[in-house]
Amino acid sequence: MEKIADIIIVGGGISGVTCAQTVNELNPDVTVILITASPLIKTVVNFKQVTERIESFQVEEKNKSYLEVSCINIEVIDDVVTEIQSENHILFTENGMKMKYKKLCLCTGGRPKVISEYNPYVLGIRDTESVQEFQKRLKNAKRIVVVGNGGIATELVYEIEGCEVIWAIKDKSIANTFVDAGAAQFFLPSINKDKTKTHEPLKRHKYTITDEETANRTINGGALGPDWSLNLTMVGLKQDSHKVHIEYNVEVNKILTAAEMLSSECDKWPVYIELSNGKVYGSDVIVSATGVIPNSQQLHTDKPFDIGEDGGIKVNDKMETNIMDIYGAGDICSANWKPSKHWLQMRLWSQARQMGCYAAKSMLADLDNEEITLDFCFELFTHMTKFFNYKVILLGKFNGQNLGENQEILLRMTEGVEYIKLILQDSRLQGAILIGETDLEETFENLILNETDLTLFKDQLLNPGIDIEDFFD
Ligand code: FAD
Repeated sequence: MEKIADIIIVGGGISGVTCAQTVNELNPDVTVILITASPLIKTVVNFKQVTERIESFQVEEKNKSYLEVSCINIEVIDDVVTEIQSENHILFTENGMKMKYKKLCLCTGGRPKVISEYNPYVLGIRDTESVQEFQKRLKNAKRIVVVGNGGIATELVYEIEGCEVIWAIKDKSIANTFVDAGAAQFFLPSINKDKTKTHEPLKRHKYTITDEETANRTINGGALGPDWSLNLTMVGLKQDSHKVHIEYNVEVNKILTAAEMLSSECDKWPVYIELSNGKVYGSDVIVSATGVIPNSQQLHTDKPFDIGEDGGIKVNDKMETNIMDIYGAGDICSANWKPSKHWLQMRLWSQARQMGCYAAKSMLADLDNEEITLDFCFELFTHMTKFFNYKVILLGKFNGQNLGENQEILLRMTEGVEYIKLILQDSRLQGAILIGETDLEETFENLILNETDLTLFKDQLLNPGIDIEDFFD
């Protein structure tokens, strides 16, 4: 069967769906086909502009028909793209379809980087199905090992109850992908604290995939959204609510089956993990939360894509890949433009949404022979999330990334309440970590963007007795 559309988008995650919706908003006369390997697509709901640059939203899974009903120019096809012939602007799918495009946008995301990929006791977490599988295993677990120190590992460790957790991290402090050692210290008391979690029903509708649909799939579904762990039952066999032991500065040496273990413990646990510090832990399941590999090598193309160091397909400041009329957005891509002073790429839902939106604008501009300049959302890195039930806001070069020498750090911390870290260079604010209800995000966002000279004010910047919001008004 043959189909034709002005724009074809591959991927039903946040970046692909946002891209399709943006085309619809800007020019409903442009025909769009969205091809998704999962019957459920991800949509952004409850979008809020917290400050000019910080956004908050939730992600809802919807049936693919949702887009077709709400956007008349979009057709959604549940299929897997296998091959692209860029010279002829044609692609082929697993179900034998042939489709012709003017512009193609790849939003095929990534997959978890799993240690010991084919070991049945080692799980990666990416999509709804993998979380469901994890919950199933956890129900009968007395101990699990979580490997990794990013957002997923941090949230998991906090959420799991009724099961001992060994958290193996390669750094000297927790949540290292996002926060510094000081903030990690601030979070530590929360780790083994009983949670006051309300198991309220989730107000938003959640769709599920049947076992049959899952069994027929060859490709992951879309990555989970920011509230993936909220209200999920993550409870093991034991009574104690929360027991976490952290192994710092370690890597995984080996994963061993019970049969391979020659100790007296040998039939106690189904799987064992040997860490680089020599310690061996038995476990019911091992969660590998060690990052994402962009799905950049899975498609057959007549020309090779330029691939970045992080494994993503390189895109320029118009979201174009090196192959004519093929664009990329979200976790699949590697930003290959000279970034503005206070922006960096991180594979987050906020950037997936922004890139999807901007790729749509860029493709439409090119179809209309118009020029486009890089969207202002790429001027400042912002991220809002929750760790250990604290609000966390990251701004600019929040960990001093690539700032080099002469960084000046200002800190304010009240145990259990707030942690504020500001990074200055040449008396100008470059980045901030704000934990707790600080209410300072707008002020610091403006100070970074305006590159305000703080020589005369920096001693007072974190003085709790001074209302700095008024000060800079
Ligand atoms: P994906 O969501 O991965 O979507 C890719 C889509 O492409 C899928 O629909 C897939 O089925 C489809 N696909 C792939 N190959 C093909 C093909 N050949 N043909 C057709 N379709 C194909 N970010 C945050 O900002 N905050 C968080 O708290 C947070 N928590 C997370 C928790 C978990 C467990 C995970 C896994 C990720 C989390 N992230 C978080 C990261 C965030 O979810 C991702 O950065 C973002 O969703 C990526 O969106 P995407 O559209 O680029 O890719």
